Amino acid sequence: MSTPPPTPGIHHVTCITNDPQGNLDFWIETLGLRLVKRSVNQDDPGTYHFFFADAEGTPGTSMTFFPWEDLSRGKVGSGQVSRTAFRVPEGSLGYWEERFEEHGVEYGDRLERFGETVLPFEDPGGLPVELVEVEVDEEDPTVPWTAFVPESAAIRGFHSVTLWLGDPDPTQDLLRTMGFEEVGTERAEGDTPGDERTRFAAAGPVGAYVDVLPTIEGGRQGSGTVHHVAFQTPTDEDQAAMREAVRSAGLRPTEQIDRHWFRSVYFREFGGVLFELATNGPGYDSDEPLEDLGGRLVLPGEFEARREEIERSLPDVAVPSPEQSAAGADD
Ligand code: ZN
Repeated sequence: MSTPPPTPGIHHVTCITNDPQGNLDFWIETLGLRLVKRSVNQDDPGTYHFFFADAEGTPGTSMTFFPWEDLSRGKVGSGQVSRTAFRVPEGSLGYWEERFEEHGVEYGDRLERFGETVLPFEDPGGLPVELVEVEVDEEDPTVPWTAFVPESAAIRGFHSVTLWLGDPDPTQDLLRTMGFEEVGTERAEGDTPGDERTRFAAAGPVGAYVDVLPTIEGGRQGSGTVHHVAFQTPTDEDQAAMREAVRSAGLRPTEQIDRHWFRSVYFREFGGVLFELATNGPGYDSDEPLEDLGGRLVLPGEFEARREEIERSLPDVAVPSPEQSAAGADD
């Protein structure tokens, strides 16, 4: 078996939540990410699909949500992504703690993990999220969106996901097949049921890490849980090679599916977590100009013909804009 080109890291993370308006307000206004695509769930077009990212929708920065109204809270457990962490510039956690106080966001005590400082908090849908301070230099591939949060504190794409697994071994082998290298193991602190957190690293710098924690605690999908995590396979060729490696490892990947802004292959990994392989192109600016991203409801492919019916079935939402909030501010 030939070795596939290693994944550079996480491509996007897709989550389940229960309040479309609350989701937009929090991820755009409080956390300062840019809405780069407003669309519908391609398997359930009566539900929105929101994509929040950096200013240009760089691979490794997009957090996406299916907001099912009135859905009850899920429970994080074995077979799930238990934590999603984002990179923020060194020295910015004080800004974030103050911002969370102002916005009434529940957050935890800072943690030290693999020599980095982590600030855990929850989004309004109940999703556990973390900010991790990292060095961000001029070469960084991410482009900060500074409409609500200044560049000195702006989120710069994913840092990591943490997987909770009943038996971590087969998943760890899979991560190695995908091109991750084991960094080390340390005692888990604060937020986790297991004793040990093992870190795997890809080339990065964005979305470089996957942490693995053994746990037998059962989970349940619902609001505040992760639906799947996607890893970058930049080209179709990279993806085909990775798909074949995953298949050879004994898993059952789907055929390539056209997700309009990227092309995807899905499989459930050994521990039960839904993994996706996603190409870097065509990208979020392939069907609307960069400056207008997220400005309108985009209905890919055959869904455009059903626009009227789909728009009628979706709840009304207002996307926070800096102009709007500036109107009420002193400056
Ligand atoms: Zn996905």
